[in-house]
Amino acid sequence: MKMEKYQVLLYYNYVRIEDPEEFASEHLRYCKELGLKGRILVAEEGINGTVSGTIEQTTQYMKNLTADARFADTEFKIDESAGHAFKKMHVRPREEVVSLKLDEDIDPNELTGEYLDPKAFKEAMEREDTIILDARNDYEYDLGHFRGAIRPDIHNFRELPDWLQKNKDKFEGKKVLTYCTGGIRCEKFSGFLKREGFEDVAQLHGGIVTYGKDEDVKGELWDGKCYVFDERISVPINRVDHVIVGRDHFDGTPCERYVNCASPECNKQILCSIENEHKYMRGCTHECRLDPDNRYVIEHNLSDEDRKVRLNQIEEDLAQKI
Ligand SMILES: [Zn+2]
Repeated sequence: MKMEKYQVLLYYNYVRIEDPEEFASEHLRYCKELGLKGRILVAEEGINGTVSGTIEQTTQYMKNLTADARFADTEFKIDESAGHAFKKMHVRPREEVVSLKLDEDIDPNELTGEYLDPKAFKEAMEREDTIILDARNDYEYDLGHFRGAIRPDIHNFRELPDWLQKNKDKFEGKKVLTYCTGGIRCEKFSGFLKREGFEDVAQLHGGIVTYGKDEDVKGELWDGKCYVFDERISVPINRVDHVIVGRDHFDGTPCERYVNCASPECNKQILCSIENEHKYMRGCTHECRLDPDNRYVIEHNLSDEDRKVRLNQIEEDLAQKI
């Protein structure tokens, strides 16, 4: 049997959509008919999607979408894939296509940072008078990031203005370079930085995934892997000198394997080796290991006695370290 080839598409477009609710329900019907799977967000400000399907299905999708004048200039990032990267197809109406939750929203068509292509972005990163600011979440940064990039020590985007004020000296007289996975977050983020008073702000056009595909830069200066929001979890970027920056949640050894904590209530994403997954019953804390609904314990059919043996082992190891 011939194996069918699949593709994953990542795209966005900040463009006016009059009735997101109606658009979403029609678009969902159409995507299902076509046989695609994935997640698409629709808002009055635009569309943000990632879908998987066969080459034929995804090619048809791109053709149809760009035939609509509103979406004619949409840029697609295309990855080959062994199969679907999603289980279902969702198209959801939203307030925003990226959830930055600014008190006062930014329209990137009116205010945004200078666009740099991968080559120009790499050259800028190598200069002394630039500072690189990651616009993503902490768990994305922890798996991989541009060498020397700053990870704002915040848990929510709302905290960023305060963080910027406190760290303003770091930015004195420097050009701020910002980047995210596919470029959509930086469209607003860089606009936000400009509104906050930073004059020289640039963004990586097409995001990290485009940078990883570029034949000039070959992903250089990227360390680790790039977190993606589908079943692949991560994709490689640096094709020259890959280094691992992720660290195992339990023992701090180099690790690029994300799992969800087995406690359904916690469900936190942690980097963890297969060995430690078994040892710690995929529980990120003692409480998560004790959770009566711990999924690892259920999947592996562990008895209370089995669980106790492992908990004792963890304590013994800990005692030895101290
Ligand atoms: Zn947990």
